[in-house]
Amino acid sequence: MPRFPAAIESRLPDVGTTIFTVMSRLAAEHGAINLSQGFPDFSPPAALVDRVTHHMRAGANQYPPMAGAMPLREALAAKMAALYGTQYDPEHEITVTAGGTQALYTAVACMVRPGDEVIVFQPVYDSYIPAIELNGGKAVVATLQYPDYRPDWVAVRKLVTPRTRLIMLNTPHNPSGSVWTAEDMAQLADIVRDTRIAIVSDEVYEHMVYDGARHESCARHPELASRSFVCSSFGKTVHATGWKVGHVAAPRELMAEFRKAHQFTVFTVNTPVQLALADWMQDPSGYLELADFYQRKRDFFRDALAASRLQLLPCRGTYFQLASYAAISDEDDATLARRWTQEVGVASIPVSAFYTDPAQGQHKVLRFCFAKNEDTLARACEKLVRL
Ligand code: PMP
Ligand code: GLN
Repeated sequence: MPRFPAAIESRLPDVGTTIFTVMSRLAAEHGAINLSQGFPDFSPPAALVDRVTHHMRAGANQYPPMAGAMPLREALAAKMAALYGTQYDPEHEITVTAGGTQALYTAVACMVRPGDEVIVFQPVYDSYIPAIELNGGKAVVATLQYPDYRPDWVAVRKLVTPRTRLIMLNTPHNPSGSVWTAEDMAQLADIVRDTRIAIVSDEVYEHMVYDGARHESCARHPELASRSFVCSSFGKTVHATGWKVGHVAAPRELMAEFRKAHQFTVFTVNTPVQLALADWMQDPSGYLELADFYQRKRDFFRDALAASRLQLLPCRGTYFQLASYAAISDEDDATLARRWTQEVGVASIPVSAFYTDPAQGQHKVLRFCFAKNEDTLARACEKLVRL
């Protein structure tokens, strides 16, 4: 293949391949148990898979409406009304997306102009800052302090300027497993009150909050709901990260802008999966039982690691468990994650990868995904307790 004949001034000069791809590839190369990239090693509900094939065979194979199949938008509106108390209009206020990543990207793309500032919290999910920068924005970083990963609202307030266009948040939080409280939401509302700031709320782990706590969706807080793109994903909820179907709910004015961008980037999302998800949502137990399901996995994983020298941090939500290895090694987390993948046979994610400056995020902490069968977790823990 001939080379591209000119110099490329990269739009993302500092970006390489995501850590999730890097670690999953390394795990495959070395036959390691892969607790790195977040995805289950079990299947979506069989009845849901049956509904997908049903709709394919029944002929639902052409474009659905641009904003998503109406039965799915209606099911999402009903769920959000029941769980969070806000009634979104499926016609104008809900859009189905090609996963959470596209929901987040499009929300940024439709709001951010060159020079606009977007406040993000680090450790930060890896897609946020590239999304901001591709659209000419500037990421302004608030740090969630180790080891609690709690927001410092006094510091956040100081980051707001007249150029602040968006605040992007993520609760339950990947990678830390922390969850924001009603008090956090009240603080956030106080900061954005009387500003033009909109909120992009990444709630892809909305159904994975543990120990009886509740998920504080921006949709639950009317003041925040009135300025939020509430983004989520079925990838986590139905154990099908590869289906890439997500959704956004926002007030009509924001959603009108979102759809202007959405229609010219993805236009719409595959029909049979949307219709199958709408069928699946008719029984809320599917998502309501998810927290118990994953809490059991969390507890199984933590119990199995109790005898190890890893120090487990609290996990209040998501399917990730953080662990400090300070008692085992002095190496930096990226080096150690690679070495353990190769030599110990367990792959994890170095948490410094979620920091703009990995040296600043060097707390000797690894992230383990426990969305796995107990047998997988037990085999991994057997190796980890020997360290
Ligand atoms: N946000 C967070 C915090 C995530 O962890 C993920 C993926 N696990 C996404 C967004 C992206 O979701 P999707 O795979 O549906 O694009
Ligand atoms: N969100 C997943 C994680 O945090 C990975 C998704 C991806 O690979 N882009 O592990």
